[in-house]
Amino acid sequence: MARHYLKKATRTAASDESDVRDTVARILDEIEAGGDAAALAYAQKFDGPTGSILLTEAEIAAATAQVPAQLQADIRFAHDNVRRFAEQQRATLRDVTYEVVPGVFAGQKTIPVNAAGCYIPGGRYCHIASAIMTVTTAKVAGCAHITACSPPRGGQGVAPAVIFAANLCGADRILAMGGVQGIAAMAFGLFGLPRADILVGPGNQYVAEAKRKLFGRVGIDMIAGPTDSLVLADASADPHIVATDLVSQAEHGYNSPVWLVTDSRELAEQVMARVPALIADLPELNRTNAEAAWRDYAEVILCSDREEMAATSDSYAPEHLTVQAQDLDWWLERLTCYGALFLGEETTVSFGDKATGTNHVLPTSGAANYTGGLSVHKYMKIVTWQRATREGARPVAEATARISRLEGMEGHARAADVRLAKYFPDESFD
Ligand code: NAD
Repeated sequence: MARHYLKKATRTAASDESDVRDTVARILDEIEAGGDAAALAYAQKFDGPTGSILLTEAEIAAATAQVPAQLQADIRFAHDNVRRFAEQQRATLRDVTYEVVPGVFAGQKTIPVNAAGCYIPGGRYCHIASAIMTVTTAKVAGCAHITACSPPRGGQGVAPAVIFAANLCGADRILAMGGVQGIAAMAFGLFGLPRADILVGPGNQYVAEAKRKLFGRVGIDMIAGPTDSLVLADASADPHIVATDLVSQAEHGYNSPVWLVTDSRELAEQVMARVPALIADLPELNRTNAEAAWRDYAEVILCSDREEMAATSDSYAPEHLTVQAQDLDWWLERLTCYGALFLGEETTVSFGDKATGTNHVLPTSGAANYTGGLSVHKYMKIVTWQRATREGARPVAEATARISRLEGMEGHARAADVRLAKYFPDESFD
């Protein structure tokens, strides 16, 4: 049996793209030409009265005082887990020195970028966890300048808990500006900020497109746009938990796809029957998002066996991938395209999104075909160096001269010749 759609999406991320591209290109051009004033004008247009653009120590202290003690403790717990996991990842990157041929030494050094710009979304929800994920990893990497940037939410300013988290995790500056204008401010070094060498963090399609457009002038972590999630479930899965998990991810936004892939028609039908009531029970904003996401973007796919389920999942390259099926080790071994994998009912995307310690800034819209999520490694430059003794340089110089001449690169060849002539004056070289 070929895979069969019990529910098919009517829209995809790709169908939304062209309008966004034009809008973002125009805004970036205007801000680059108009500087701080142009960025401020867009901030007022999209997010209302701006208040302070760069938060002061006193504003950070005032925001901290508004965060309840239990929430502060929870944020510290999540920060600690993310920091410790990031430190483990940092330890896997090491400097290397290797004697390639006798007397010729080559090495690798890992150097953090100087300035990181961390975007923390804030249009719909108060993304405390995105502050933890982006700023903590930049800090563990060793970036000298870390800017956290988040929209001031309809004139109310950046959410106090986001300010608390960004400050706790190591942000040197907090920029109260969202969307394309926030990204542009960090990339172009507006408002006295250091120009960002890398822009990281999730955001809506405007934020994701702004990062894509600036890539090359600055580094980016990846395209982390509207969240997408896929659940692989077999007949052993609990339909109530599967339905709850799908709804939990559909609430991200009207355009956040959720996909169920199963080899059990009965499970699929039970899940589909439960989803509408679970969505209807959410608070209004969440319900509106999830209703639209489920109606327009969700898919339910019936496969003949687990191999076809795995192949289907890999073809979607989901940002979040959950397995609620038997033989979790088989799935861990078999699956190859995902941003983050959640194995078994005892964990869920929400855990990873908030507090487990793995990063929640993950590749969306199929980007998991070529990259994983945000980690310390994204902030690190892996650079190389070399040095040689005169004897060690000899065979390298001879080979270099011959290869260069065959390539027609006479100047390169002479850089080798001049050394051979100096170090071995009594010999002749062809
Ligand atoms: P956001 O901060 O990304 O975007 C808000 C900004 O969008 C506003 O400040 C405004 O400047 C800009 N904007 C709004 N309408 C605009 C328009 N018409 N033209 C130009 N700019 C406009 O917050 P959000 O909108 O809530 O989106 C958050 C996104 O982040 C969601 O899509 C969510 O799925 C995603 N997310 C992804 C991950 C991940 O790891 N991939 C994690 C968390 C959140």
